[in-house]
Amino acid sequence: MKDREGQASGNVSAIGQCLTCAHARSIAHPHGGDAYWRCGLSDTDKRFPKYPRLPVNDCAGYVPHEGA
Ligand code: SF4
Repeated sequence: MKDREGQASGNVSAIGQCLTCAHARSIAHPHGGDAYWRCGLSDTDKRFPKYPRLPVNDCAGYVPHEGA
């Protein structure tokens, strides 16, 4: 798992749309486990959980980030 300005690489089958979403930020696990994912859209829209259950599929808020 590699961080890049808040975005991380990962397995799309395990993470789903959050992997390539402009709203998503990966947060390194403090003890070296898998990173977890924070949905930035949750700050302004309570339909979206702050820490979505993965994998996320068919998300209404999904916006592909540049390069996705
Ligand atoms: S909007 Fe959906 S796909 Fe994007 S980060 Fe939030 S939960 Fe993940």
